[in-house]
Amino acid sequence: MGPVLDGLVKLQSVENRLRAAKAKLARGRRSVIIQENQVRSLQSALEAKKEETQLTKVQCDRLELELKTRDAEVAKLRGSLNNAKTNKEYAAVLTMLNTTKADNSKIETQILELMKAIETDEEECEAIRGQIEEQKQLLEETRKKADASSAGFEEEIAKVQAEWDAVAESIPAPSLEVFKRVAETYDGEAVVKVDQQEGKSGAYSCGGCFMGITAESVNLLLTRDEIIRCPNCTRILIISDSQD
Ligand SMILES: [Zn+2]
Repeated sequence: MGPVLDGLVKLQSVENRLRAAKAKLARGRRSVIIQENQVRSLQSALEAKKEETQLTKVQCDRLELELKTRDAEVAKLRGSLNNAKTNKEYAAVLTMLNTTKADNSKIETQILELMKAIETDEEECEAIRGQIEEQKQLLEETRKKADASSAGFEEEIAKVQAEWDAVAESIPAPSLEVFKRVAETYDGEAVVKVDQQEGKSGAYSCGGCFMGITAESVNLLLTRDEIIRCPNCTRILIISDSQD
């Protein structure tokens, strides 16, 4: 292998280490973001629960007010009952009184149910507040851990990046551009080996996408120090050295 392809193989190895180091840093940051999102989702659950409780309270207040008015009506009907002048009038007022009392008892039941619901909602709010506190502590711990390790990762990234830059300097600019473009497309995998298909002499395939590679391409790779790309996936092809 000539110096260009040799340089690209070296660059690929450094590229792999660079991406691994960057991934470690990103993982730490991502775990912080996940915890932050969990705090936020609990907070919005709490807001929704509080709003629900508030609506139930409004409904409960309205029914209590209605009950008060109706209780006053019952008292008034009782007065009318005492002052009834005929049996017919007495019977009519009594019917009204009983109906109103029955309605009032229904409203009382409703009020009790609403009060129970409010109590349950408030307990749930308390539980969510507890979860938020726990989650916030977890977030703080995760943040501290991520901050502590990120300094080390950043140092490692800088070191590997310097290595990358040094290797890149030995590679002609157009070849380097191709490497960078393909690496972006394939998550860092720009250079792949040409595989010889088992049991078939002269049958070759791309180590990246496994599509066939012509013997002419392999010949070019063996004789020239030039970039040959897989016609299917566009990755940079190399012939693996005998040592591996
Ligand atoms: Zn390919």
